[in-house]
Amino acid sequence: MTDQGKRYPLDRWIKAKIGDFPGEDLNVSRLREYQIGKIRDTIFYAKANSGFYRELLQQVHADEIRDWSDLSRIPFTGGEDILDHPQRLVCVNQNQIHRIVTLNTSGTTGQNKRIFFTEEDQELTADYFHHGMETIVGPGDRVLILMPGARPGSVGDLLLTGLSRFHCRGIPYGFVDDYDRVLQLIFEQKITGIVGIPTQVYQLARLKEYRYPDRKTAMKSILLSADYSAPSLVKAIKNAFHCAVFDHYGMTEMGLGGGLECDVCRGYHLREADLYFEIIDPETKEVLPDGCVGEIVFTTLTRKGMPLIRYRTGDLSRFLDQPCTCGTRLKTLQKISGRLSQRQPFHHQVLTINMLDDVLFNYPRLLDYEAVLTEEGQKDFLTISAQFPDQGREEDLDYLHSMLMDAKIFAQFTFAGQKVFSANANGKRKIRDLRG
Ligand SMILES: [Zn+2]
Repeated sequence: MTDQGKRYPLDRWIKAKIGDFPGEDLNVSRLREYQIGKIRDTIFYAKANSGFYRELLQQVHADEIRDWSDLSRIPFTGGEDILDHPQRLVCVNQNQIHRIVTLNTSGTTGQNKRIFFTEEDQELTADYFHHGMETIVGPGDRVLILMPGARPGSVGDLLLTGLSRFHCRGIPYGFVDDYDRVLQLIFEQKITGIVGIPTQVYQLARLKEYRYPDRKTAMKSILLSADYSAPSLVKAIKNAFHCAVFDHYGMTEMGLGGGLECDVCRGYHLREADLYFEIIDPETKEVLPDGCVGEIVFTTLTRKGMPLIRYRTGDLSRFLDQPCTCGTRLKTLQKISGRLSQRQPFHHQVLTINMLDDVLFNYPRLLDYEAVLTEEGQKDFLTISAQFPDQGREEDLDYLHSMLMDAKIFAQFTFAGQKVFSANANGKRKIRDLRG
C-alpha cells in the first residue's frame, strides 16, 4: 500500500497482463523480469522472421541477454530503417497484416515511413485505449474524437472500440475542419469528453471564450495527444471548459499509445507491459541514469507485425525519480521537452516550437500561429503569422512581440487571416526552416 492508500488503475491492468502474483501493488522487480524476458523473446522472434534483424542482430544472442547491462550491447534502430526498407522489418506474411500506417516525414526525399500492424497488434492498442480512457471518462460519457477515424484500425476507430468496451459513447469527427461546427456539436450533443490534438482543442477553447463566454458545456475531461501541449495551452483549455485536462504521449511506431498522465498530471505513466523505455545520450548513445534528460528509446515487447528494437524516437525527456502521489509503480516520463530534429539554431540560441508555444498561447486572443525561419544577407529572421478570432489588430501583434521579447526571442509578426493551419498526418507542428 502507498501512503495515500491509493492505487493507479493502470497498475492493475499491467499487473494482470504480466501475470503478476496476487497482492496489493504491482511488483516492480517482477515487471522488470517480465520485460527482460519479453526483450529476449522479441530478439529471438525478430531474428527468426526478419532479414533486417537477422543482419542487424548478428552478434546478439537472445539467451545471452540476462540483465540491463546486456541490453546496452544491442544496436539501435531508427526512422531511417523504416524509411529505407520497411518490409524487411516485417515478421509475418503479408496476409497477416491488418493495417499499414504511412507517416509523412519532413525529409525532401519524398519517402514515407510505413509501419505494419497485425490484428493482434491492433487489439493491444484497443485494449490500452480501453483501460487508459477508463481512467479519464466513464460509462455513459459522450466523447468527441477529433482524430482521424474513418478507416478501420485508425486511431479514431481504435478509440471508438476501446470506449465501447466500458459503455462510453465515442463520437468520431476527425481533425477539426470547421471550429464553429465542432463548438455547436459540443453544446448540442452535450459532449462530456474530447480526445484531440493540442492546438486544435486550444483553438476551440479560445473561440468558445470569445463567442460564447457565458454558455456552459457538459465537459468533464479532455485528453490531448500527438503533439506538445504547452502549460499555457492546457491552462486556456481548463479555463474555457472548466474540466480536467490530461496529456498522452505516443507515436504510431509505439502502437500509438506510450504513456498517460494521471490526475496529478506530473508526467506520463508508461505502458510498460507492451513497451520498454530507455533514455540515452543522443551523442554518446550511452544509457543515462534516471533523472537525466536525453533521447527516448523504446523496444516493443508484444508486437508481432513489425517489432521495433531500441528504436530512437528523437524525442527528449527524462524519467522522474520521485514517486507520483497517485500511487503508481510504473515509470513516469516527464513531459516531452522537445525533439532533436526541431531544435533550430537562431541568434546564438536553440529555438523550438515548444518554446514559442509556452509563451504565445498565454495571449487570449491568439488562436493559432505559424513560425517560419528565413535568411536575408547573412541574417536570420523569425516570422510569426498569427491568427485571431477577427481580422486582428495592430496591438495584438505588439503584445505578442513584447511577450517574445521578454523571453529573449526576437521575431516579426504578420496577420494570418482566417486560414486553417492544417495538422499534418501525425498532428505534429514545427518551425518551418526556409534557410539555405
Ligand atoms: Zn500519477
